[in-house]
Amino acid sequence: MPDLQSLLNEVDSCVDEIVHLEQELVRIPSVNTGFMPTGNETPVAEYCRDWLAREGIESKILARDPERGNIIAVMPGDEPGTRLMFMSHTDVVPVEDESKWNWAPFAAEISAGRVYGRGASDCKALLSSQMMAMAIMKRNGIRLKHGLRMVSGADEEHGGRWGFGWLAEHHPEELESKFAVNEGGGMPIEDGGNLAYMLNTGEKGRLEVHLTIRGASAHASVPWTGENATYHTSEVLKRIEAYEPERDTSLEFFDHLSTFAIEDRPTPQNIDALVADVQKRNPRLASMMRALSRMTLTPTIIKGGIKSNSVPETIELTCDVRTLPFQDEAYVRAELDKVLDGMPNVEYDIDYMAVPNSSDYESELTEAIKTAQAMAVSRDDISWVPGISNGFTDSRFTRPLGIITYGFKGDHPDDDPMLSRAHGTDESVGISSLVSSTKSMIAIAYQICDAG
Ligand SMILES: [Zn+2]
Repeated sequence: MPDLQSLLNEVDSCVDEIVHLEQELVRIPSVNTGFMPTGNETPVAEYCRDWLAREGIESKILARDPERGNIIAVMPGDEPGTRLMFMSHTDVVPVEDESKWNWAPFAAEISAGRVYGRGASDCKALLSSQMMAMAIMKRNGIRLKHGLRMVSGADEEHGGRWGFGWLAEHHPEELESKFAVNEGGGMPIEDGGNLAYMLNTGEKGRLEVHLTIRGASAHASVPWTGENATYHTSEVLKRIEAYEPERDTSLEFFDHLSTFAIEDRPTPQNIDALVADVQKRNPRLASMMRALSRMTLTPTIIKGGIKSNSVPETIELTCDVRTLPFQDEAYVRAELDKVLDGMPNVEYDIDYMAVPNSSDYESELTEAIKTAQAMAVSRDDISWVPGISNGFTDSRFTRPLGIITYGFKGDHPDDDPMLSRAHGTDESVGISSLVSSTKSMIAIAYQICDAG
């Protein structure tokens, strides 16, 4: 049986195949608007099923709605069950303004070593790499002691209610694994000549706070007979803008900043000064340090007023809130109550879009990923930093099932993360990352599933 290094060498001779697979997936427009009927992920799932079947890998499609299939493929091991799950998603976000794109969003054109298109990076690149990784192992007759599973879900971009959320609730047995690797991490950060990778072990929570700000309506010609809710709103907005969230540096991430030549141990007292300092040389890292040291409270939508000659009685203000993994609802309420103190005309309610979640950093999967990525990009000088993602992914559904889930895509250090533009105009992926990610996925599975 071929050893791991020869499997990784084989990836280099499959580059055209990997790129072609990625192109074919991007060309199926599985756009998720968030409003049913939408997504149309089933054609992607069927393409994957047929492609895997040609490689001799069995899969099935499970769907809450026939148009929104989830693909589940299993490479069995000698022992029952699977130990590792490759995760990704098949839906993509809409194209906002096609006229701004330099490449047709669903043509999957190649330019300067990149594949362009909506979903090229998020998340069809990872899906392509995981499928190719399975195919290369299968072609080489790799025998696994523990099984490997691949699940690509629908509806990741709008709550997962047709994808991983639904699978976790109704078919948890289809996700059964000790470990999982998913999107939402694995970005290289070059700083001061050092190469570091973020291994994301968790995600901030996302809540929507809906505030109702009340006044009393009146005819606008005699405004003093009413109470204009917009003025109260302006007070609320002033307070939110002035809100200073509590600083917190207890996440493991802050124990690893010496990797980026930050010598001072971060504390709640010095974190803002450190952020300001890092901002000059590495804005991306500074932004991460800022996001991981506090809750954020951001007004995003204002609605109010019914007629141009009426004093508005109510204004509705929506805020986006991102919480650290240990900040619960009671914490959020206490913070909001402080901000709104003494304003009896304001009420709010909280909608959880995603609860904060995390897996332990100390695990066999961490060790496997470190080894895998070093081999995948031929670098033995990589530093590792446990991160918490600002956004959220389907990992929030698998972590509560006890599956140790990390965000790790295995991008190539030469592929500038700023070019991928997930959710943006001219989204793309570097072919070097498709290759390194395929290698990394093979090497992770090889170790976790105990090949040989
Ligand atoms: Zn995604």
